[in-house]
Amino acid sequence: RKGCVVITGASSGLGLATAKALAETGKWHVIMACRDLLKTERATKSAGMPKENYTIMHLDLVSLDSVRQFVNNFRRSENPLDVLVCNAAVYQPTAKEPSFTAEGFELSVGTNYLGHFLLSRLLLEDLKQSDYPSKRLIIVGSITGNSNTLAGNVPPKANLRDLRGLARGLNGLNSSAMIDGGDFDGAKAYKDSKVCNMLTMQEFYRRYHEETGITFASLYPGCMATTGLFREHIPLFRFLFPPFQKYITKGFVSEAESGKRLA
Ligand code: NDP
Repeated sequence: RKGCVVITGASSGLGLATAKALAETGKWHVIMACRDLLKTERATKSAGMPKENYTIMHLDLVSLDSVRQFVNNFRRSENPLDVLVCNAAVYQPTAKEPSFTAEGFELSVGTNYLGHFLLSRLLLEDLKQSDYPSKRLIIVGSITGNSNTLAGNVPPKANLRDLRGLARGLNGLNSSAMIDGGDFDGAKAYKDSKVCNMLTMQEFYRRYHEETGITFASLYPGCMATTGLFREHIPLFRFLFPPFQKYITKGFVSEAESGKRLA
């Protein structure tokens, strides 16, 4: 049978390129878990994806209710779950004030980490039941959260410290909107969320790999300086970042290439 893979945030960038690469093999049915169904439908059409190899389902990671709803809908579809790819993310490097998810958590950590954490936690049961020979749960990480890389040393650096902001609700009311309890910084919140994603995979591996046989990993796809991730950055940055990555760091990869890597 075909493998069945769920990819979050498959309406653009890496998620779309990965969905396309997998759908074109003919060996996968791709469930594209996205918040904007119309945008995703248009994106699959312009990417020329074979219709019989994908389904679009609604998932908005900004709401934990929506995550639960997605899991229910997915189960009702009676597809097996062989691979889960947590790819969606938001990045708000220029935000002066925090914004919040439906349940009131700071938006970047709420979307990138808490939404995916709940999704992974719930769908672990479905992955366990799959009879596919190589079951996987992959979260897209980032070197910006790794202090042993150049990009990871550009301030503000990721740092979770003793998690006091998270412990107090991450809601900007009776606690800071940052995991470490500090002042809000949108770029740091993104990096923190990616550290959480990577740590989550290490911990899932430690707790569940032996018992379930599932491969848990985080993956850095390379720097795709042209995707929608940078949509909130200042225009000068968006103009200079792609050539900087292409010619100076030489870390640039195209969306199609990084999609193949993740696929
Ligand atoms: P894009 O902005 O192109 O893609 C992000 C995707 O996430 C979009 O499909 C977007 O949907 C979706 N998304 C955002 N918020 C939500 C939400 N609340 N619910 C559901 N989906 C949501 O960026 P990239 O392709 O670059 O990013 C993909 C992954 O790659 C991210 O995890 C990012 O951290 C990672 N990454 C990217 C790098 C790069 O250089 N670009 C480098 C390292 C890692 P919508 O279209 O509706 O906005």
